[in-house]
Amino acid sequence: MMLIDTHCHLNDPAFEKTLPAVMARAANVGVHRFIVPAYDRESLGRTAELPFSFPGVIFSALGIHPWHVDEKMGYAEILSFIRRHPPTAIGETGLDFSPECLPREIQIKSLIRQLEWAGELGLPVTIHCRKAYDVLYQILLDQGGKIRGALHSFSGSKEMMFKFIELGFHIAFSGSVTRKTAGKYHKNAQAAPLERILLETDAPSIATETTVAAEVEPRHIVEVAQKIAEIRGISFEEICERTSENARRLFALP
Ligand SMILES: [Zn+2]
Repeated sequence: MMLIDTHCHLNDPAFEKTLPAVMARAANVGVHRFIVPAYDRESLGRTAELPFSFPGVIFSALGIHPWHVDEKMGYAEILSFIRRHPPTAIGETGLDFSPECLPREIQIKSLIRQLEWAGELGLPVTIHCRKAYDVLYQILLDQGGKIRGALHSFSGSKEMMFKFIELGFHIAFSGSVTRKTAGKYHKNAQAAPLERILLETDAPSIATETTVAAEVEPRHIVEVAQKIAEIRGISFEEICERTSENARRLFALP
C-alpha cells in the first residue's frame, strides 16, 4: 500500500520535536511520500532542507502563502533561493479573499509572480484558494494553459471544479471531505474524474471527522482515502493506487 500526502506542513514548528515519530506513524499505515509546502519567508530554509534529511520521502514546494505576502517581499531574492534549492513544486501560493485577509491586489501580484516562476522552472504549483475561485480561474486561464498543479483542499462548487479540471488542474481532497455534514465536498469527490484526484491532510491545519486540526498528522490521510472510496463505491486499495499514481505523475515523484 502506498499513499502520498500531497500537502502537509511537516515544516510546521508543531512537528519540530515529533517529526520522526509522526513519519513512522504515517509509514505504518502506508504513507510513504510527503510534499511539504513552505508558507512564509522564514519557512523557506527549513522546507528546502527537509528533502536532504529525508531523501526520496519528503519533497518540497517553495513559495509564499497568500496570508504571508507583502509589498516588500523581495521576490528576486526568493526566486534565487528557489533556483539554488530546486523544489518539486512552487507553493503554496494562491488567493484568500476571506474578510480578514490581505488586500486583493497584493495577493494577486504575488500569485502571478509565483505562477511565472512555475512556468519558467517547468514546475507544478500547489494552490490555496478561499472565496476567490473566479479570480483564480481567470488568472490561470490568462496563463494560457501553461501551468499545471493542485488545488489544495478544494472548497469550490462542482461547476467550478470542472472548469479547473478542464484547465488541466488536479483536485486535492483533505480531511474536510471526511466530515459527515460536508455535502459539497462529498459531491465533488463523487464527481471528479479519478485521474485528477489527489489526497492530502494539510496537517496540522484541517480537522477530520475523528480528529481536531491541531492533532492531524499525515497518517490521517487514510480517513480521507476511506471516505472517498466509500463515496465512489470503489475499494480503498484502488483509491490509494490511483491517487498515488496521479501524484507521481503531476509532481514527477520517483
Ligand atoms: Zn497548506
